[in-house]
Amino acid sequence: MKFKQILEVLNKTYRRAATKQRTCSVKGCDKQAINSHVLQKNGILNSIEERGHIRVSEADFFNPDLFHFKRDGINQAFTFKGFCAEHDKKIFAPIEDFEIDFDDYKSQLLFAYRTVLNEKVKKEVLLDWHKYQKESKTLIGEIDTDLIDKTDEQQKVGIKDIEYYKEKIELDLNNETQSFIFKVRYTKPCEICLASHFTYETTRERSKQIETTGKDFEILTDIFISFFPIENENVLMMGYLKEQEPKCGEFVQFFFDCDEDTLFKKLSDLILCRCEMWACSESFYNQKIKPHDKVINEIFQESASTVDEDRELNFNIFQ
Ligand SMILES: [Zn+2]
Repeated sequence: MKFKQILEVLNKTYRRAATKQRTCSVKGCDKQAINSHVLQKNGILNSIEERGHIRVSEADFFNPDLFHFKRDGINQAFTFKGFCAEHDKKIFAPIEDFEIDFDDYKSQLLFAYRTVLNEKVKKEVLLDWHKYQKESKTLIGEIDTDLIDKTDEQQKVGIKDIEYYKEKIELDLNNETQSFIFKVRYTKPCEICLASHFTYETTRERSKQIETTGKDFEILTDIFISFFPIENENVLMMGYLKEQEPKCGEFVQFFFDCDEDTLFKKLSDLILCRCEMWACSESFYNQKIKPHDKVINEIFQESASTVDEDRELNFNIFQ
């Protein structure tokens, strides 16, 4: 009985955090944020939709060992509360209302912008969820508040990191500066939509840095990645800060120089080990994921606890 009660409160507090009203991310705007798609519905997400639904990867908070591919309606799938209706329309018009020019710097930047904001909101939802948990009478003595505080600290560091990237993106959007390098490649079609960013430094490298210097890297190297179908092809876009070229330039370039089979294996490793946010079609799910459910779940479990996020797997989701 008690367990059921706890689960109920965890569920309720999570829903409360996830559905909480949020303000527009544009400085000075206090309007309510609407649900924006991380990747737009028209032209991108709807190309993997079957009967109004897509499959979205989702971690189960209540059972971290489990990873689901939730069947979700196209209108609510892959959304986050980042901007008010007015700003969402105004800022993203170049990639929403016109044919997307993937070689255009500002269009590339807009894809990264949404990814960053989505990540930030996800962390804010977690912080709110933890806060509500600590406020709940039912959960007193049932949750590890020390662990929650520790996780919150990490989330806050993560948000600070994201803010750094967000400001650089906004600077470029409003000026003629180009702080990032983006690379684009086209591949055979594949019914996967990915919009994510990951940290180049592994947990092992960060621990070593802390051990030797007493503190973590000043700013972590974040790499943006988008991969999605567009007119009988898939487009791969990756980007990073120019100032971090010496660190991750070669790593990213490999994705653009290697042959297609190698590229898909690299993408498979990335989406299973480092990128939380991706979606696929029902057909892709039935052909490539469902038959390997057990293996994929094991990989996700390992990914959640490993300090070597850059590991190469013996499994390829595209094969
Ligand atoms: Zn606004």
